[in-house]
Amino acid sequence: MLFYEKMKKSPDFKPVFCSYIVKKFALFKIFCTFAVKLRNVLTLLYNCINMDFREDILNTDIKFLPGVGPKKAELLSAELEISTFRDLLYFFPFRHIDRTQFCTVREISPEMQYVQLRGEIVSIRVENSGRGAKRMILRFADATGAFNLVFFNGLTWIKDRIKPSTQYIVFGRPTVFNGEINMVHPEINEPETETEGIFNRNISGIYTSTEKLRNIVGNRLFTKLMYNLLNMVVGKIPETLPNRLLNKYRLLPLPEALLNIHFPQSADLLVQARKRLKFEELFFIRLDILYRRNAKKQISRGIVFSVVGNRFKHFYEQLPFPLTGAQKRVIREMRQDMGSGKQMNRLLQGDVGSGKTLVALMVMIIAADNGYQSCLMAPTEILAMQHFNSITTFLTNIDLNVALLTGSTKKKERREIFDALIEGKINILVGTHALIEDNVRFNKLGLAVIDEQHRFGVEQRAKLWEKSEIIPHVLVMTATPIPRTLAMTVYGDLNISIIDELPPGRKPVQTLLFNDSKRLRLFGFMKEQIALGRQIYVVYPLIKESEKMDYKYLEDGYESIVRAFPPPEYATVVVHGQMKAVDKDFSMKLFVDGKATIMVATSVIEVGVNVPNASVMVIESAERFGLSQLHQLRGRVGRGADQSYCILMADYKLSQEARRRLKLMVETSDGFKIAEEDMRMRGPGDIEGTQQSGLPFKLNIADLREDGELLEAVGKIAEAILADDPNLDSEDNRILKISLNRQAALKDFSKIS
Ligand code: ADP
Ligand code: MG
Repeated sequence: MLFYEKMKKSPDFKPVFCSYIVKKFALFKIFCTFAVKLRNVLTLLYNCINMDFREDILNTDIKFLPGVGPKKAELLSAELEISTFRDLLYFFPFRHIDRTQFCTVREISPEMQYVQLRGEIVSIRVENSGRGAKRMILRFADATGAFNLVFFNGLTWIKDRIKPSTQYIVFGRPTVFNGEINMVHPEINEPETETEGIFNRNISGIYTSTEKLRNIVGNRLFTKLMYNLLNMVVGKIPETLPNRLLNKYRLLPLPEALLNIHFPQSADLLVQARKRLKFEELFFIRLDILYRRNAKKQISRGIVFSVVGNRFKHFYEQLPFPLTGAQKRVIREMRQDMGSGKQMNRLLQGDVGSGKTLVALMVMIIAADNGYQSCLMAPTEILAMQHFNSITTFLTNIDLNVALLTGSTKKKERREIFDALIEGKINILVGTHALIEDNVRFNKLGLAVIDEQHRFGVEQRAKLWEKSEIIPHVLVMTATPIPRTLAMTVYGDLNISIIDELPPGRKPVQTLLFNDSKRLRLFGFMKEQIALGRQIYVVYPLIKESEKMDYKYLEDGYESIVRAFPPPEYATVVVHGQMKAVDKDFSMKLFVDGKATIMVATSVIEVGVNVPNASVMVIESAERFGLSQLHQLRGRVGRGADQSYCILMADYKLSQEARRRLKLMVETSDGFKIAEEDMRMRGPGDIEGTQQSGLPFKLNIADLREDGELLEAVGKIAEAILADDPNLDSEDNRILKISLNRQAALKDFSKIS
């Protein structure tokens, strides 16, 4: 509480008076003395009334924080998901800068993130910037050179405050405009205030912002809000970890950690604050997963599949090709699980085309040999149909009953399936979401397989488990390789099997990077491939979702393709996410059946369609896709014996990062390498990438790219605690249980499997 005391003494501190009398008195006094401050005081008072003191003050709506108000609150919530005091408190600076460092005008370059300079404002002028808007240009100089500081708003404020020919300290981010370096909305401070106040500490935080927010709540205001907030709440932040952990792992108490992450008192304290907050974040994720796994274990014995029966042996013998080593290994792993008396909960990862479906089929046969039914659920109708077809082909001479149930299964057939299912006459049921409907009842469900599991919600999956008295064994499959640390976080209660080997004889897809100047060549090449009897995918990033971007709209693309490949010689279909499911399936089917030669699509085709005859994947505006997504798309070709190609069409001008990503695609076909790289480049918390990488929530401070070790360490700590006290009932662990419940509610951990 040391810093709390310090802050209290600082002149800005406005104590929140709890007692009504004191409040009135304070109001009266302040009102008389500083009439200007009336508004502030009223806000404060309003806060006192609106804050429920019995409740956690951190749950208070952000609009009640002095300096925020309803308008800014709305913006903060829409742009940064900050809607309560707690959200703001846990919105950490994405970096800190050392304010003791100065550089000279000559030294600055646009690559620098933030710089601090000492110098003089030599001139101030106001320019029209069109449409009645004005900008103010301040010329800043030191002994080595000069450049412009640009302001678009707050002009009067600057005019009143900044005097030419005076020394200032300027802090901001250099940018290039019209070939010259300048700085937009920098902080300008007078040298004498350098060591006072909150903006001129030695180390200060930089907060991420958004385009919309930047001009209204810039870093300076953000810092100020944080200061106001900490003043109000620092004494009321509940500790989340028991003392014994704080002592054992030398962690800062929570209020100190929070203070120091926002306003570091020293470099060392900043390091300690980060350590403490990362520890807390990862610890509760792991604790939650393990806690719930315990709870599940207590209720779920597993069905034992003890025999390897004749059908399995027969199937194995008549396979047209040998299994890969990796396939054999994962089947062994699963047989061990299913024979152990515990319920199997396994994630099977394998690159596209690595033969996961076959593996799934083999364990389903084991289930059948042991007298149990199984089901295989796929995210789309096409996929379900493909699984059904390939499974029935594989099972040609095997005495097993397979049925397909989807949304378009006819009523009569549906009823027949329901009856056969409950009578136990169907061994394997393949289907879509239709499988989880209430009237689907099994006789003895022993194994549930889910393909492309990230397409399903947890509740949907859970519904499958409920279809059996004893929870069935569960196998979830994904072709999206998930880096290990991420898998640990997201699928903490699953065991993981990996197929890291493709069946022999596959020719790697040749990947090429083109820009528009090669379009004619591309069309020529496509025609050659079609003449050879092959089919082609052309994929666009999105369909009219963004007005301002120069996206190649799918519709334009479709038109230009049809112009270059006119019917009836060529047949082109179009598929996108906004089509009705029936239309989509119809188009898909034309392509799957070889009746269409070109499919123009958005990324809807990403999910496992299997058209071995398709040999070319053209990806338009490839720079707009994430690496993992590109990899998934590329996996759609190269499934047959022919040489296949993936052509990445990109803009002439690419950012360095985009070029690097596309180059990586050209160079490697290793899905795991690509996934790791994807995570390293974008970060797992990337908003758009979150869904793709499978991380269901944002991490505030931990970074899975670098905190893998910590994640494992806190996992062990959590395990040890739960081993002694599985329900966290002991007095020592009470605080953990309370924090766990609170955190789980906040992060919505339920999204984790
Ligand atoms: P995934 O679901 O992992 O993308 P699939 O199970 O669809 O891959 O397999 C892709 C293709 O490879 C299928 O046509 C399948 O029959 C074939 N396949 C599977 N295992 C092998 C193997 N060991 N050797 C040769 N081909 C295989
Ligand atoms: Mg598949």
